[in-house]
Amino acid sequence: MAERADTHAGADVEDMPELSDGDDDFGDDEAQWQWMEDHDGSPHVTCLFCDRLLNSVLDTLQHCTVEHHINLVDVINKHHVDDYSYIKLINFIRSTKCEPTHLMGLPDGPLPWESDDFLRPVIQDDPLLQTDPEELCGQQGEGLSTCEPSGAESRHAILQRANAAEERARRSEDALARAMEDLHKLKLLAQGLVLNAETRRTANLGSVAELRDDEDEAYFSSYGHYGIHEEMLKDKVRTESYRDFMYSNPEVFRDKVVLDVGCGTGILSMFAAKAGAKKIIAVDQSEIIYQAMDIVRSNQLEDKITFLKGRIEDICLPVEKVDIIISEWMGYFLLFESMLDSVLVARDLYLADGGSVYPDLCNISLAAVGDKQKHQERIAFWDNVYGFNMSCMKKAVVPEAVVEVVNADTLISEPTVIQTIDCNRVCLSELEFASDFCLKITNTGDCTAIVGYFDIFFDKGCCNKVMFSTGPQVTKTHWKQTVFLLEKPLAVQAGEELRGKITVRKNKKDPRSLLVTFDLRDRKLTYSLQ
Ligand code: SAH
Repeated sequence: MAERADTHAGADVEDMPELSDGDDDFGDDEAQWQWMEDHDGSPHVTCLFCDRLLNSVLDTLQHCTVEHHINLVDVINKHHVDDYSYIKLINFIRSTKCEPTHLMGLPDGPLPWESDDFLRPVIQDDPLLQTDPEELCGQQGEGLSTCEPSGAESRHAILQRANAAEERARRSEDALARAMEDLHKLKLLAQGLVLNAETRRTANLGSVAELRDDEDEAYFSSYGHYGIHEEMLKDKVRTESYRDFMYSNPEVFRDKVVLDVGCGTGILSMFAAKAGAKKIIAVDQSEIIYQAMDIVRSNQLEDKITFLKGRIEDICLPVEKVDIIISEWMGYFLLFESMLDSVLVARDLYLADGGSVYPDLCNISLAAVGDKQKHQERIAFWDNVYGFNMSCMKKAVVPEAVVEVVNADTLISEPTVIQTIDCNRVCLSELEFASDFCLKITNTGDCTAIVGYFDIFFDKGCCNKVMFSTGPQVTKTHWKQTVFLLEKPLAVQAGEELRGKITVRKNKKDPRSLLVTFDLRDRKLTYSLQ
């Protein structure tokens, strides 16, 4: 493991040289090792008093004693030669080529090698200079000079190798730290590039129409399962509103060509057929359309209803224009899913002059909520979780809008409409908007959240207008309500007008999800709906 890790670290360092200032000292170390290895065992120490080359420092000292009758250790001891003085002594002997007797007979007092000039080596890489004088004395005292000079030398060499290895390790660590720093910089650079690319790629994604098939696959496959259709069909408020609108306004449908955008199980197409439509074109990209084909056959409506599988944006209709477009495109907080984008594409491509899109009007509304218990459950909960403080989790919890049913008793303001959309007129860019609002507070207390919901109207040219609401005061629907929690509740007084601004925009990275920002008192709060 360690070896692999080392190898890896080494590879990293090697891969990054151009990024680091990189002091290239490794080379010096290598040279030193090479030098030590080359000289291992071959004569390489020059005698202090003649030209003889000897195998080791101790051999040299022994040679000096025998041949030149001077014991260097005696000189060291006599003159209390320390590390520096020892280096000077060696260089003094070599540079002045003094006689051994001269050294032995030196009087007490200033020594002839005291000048710092003698710190400069006379012989490059002189092994005598790399020897510790104290160690030299110790070794001689132990009689190593005569017994095992090469053993002592190898111990010294080991020490040197260890020191050098330590130095190498330190430099490697430094180099690795520099490489890591460079990697970090590269990572930030890469992240920046990717994010910019992402923004560029999605910058003009004002519509889901521009999504690639593979990017939208998950969306359509979620509609492939029967479960979601069962939930929608069982939502009576929703489904009966569509049915009532069509059945109670037969004059709107009689002999008309109808386009059903996103037909699902085909329910709206069948209502239209029963309401008197001449021809219905039912389009859906999801696999559920195959069930719809069976359902329509089972109800003997196949002569009136034609199915086309595909995205409305991509397919080619068998007619040039249609009189009516029906669709159930609404998502949470109305605009989540952005399916209205697709309906607008269909409208602009296929709706005949004087034709109508149904439902035609939609309101988005807000109201203030004062629900301390819910707030406690969702926010204060994190302050003490089994005795642990997890309050940092609030930063993740609060910005996610919650889809849930709000108890009407917890409303503390009148609702206010922040946006009205006319599906026959609205254009794509208007589906992102900012709106000032004013909430008339009805109960004094703490505002713990803002709730959002929508109302739907079948209005244009209808004798019998139909509408339904997804608000908290009426029968709940599968859209429930959308709750924007306030981390810190706002104290409000009955009669007060709580003013703010809401901005609704698509999430650039996923145009099917929404970002909702509230400017409320002096706070700016952004929520995602995904
Ligand atoms: N009309 C049905 C289903 C509504 S759900 C009903 O009222 O019960 C919305 C349907 O629209 C889904 O089945 C989905 O697959 C389909 N849909 C969404 N966007 C579409 C698009 N751009 N092209 C084709 N079908 C789409």
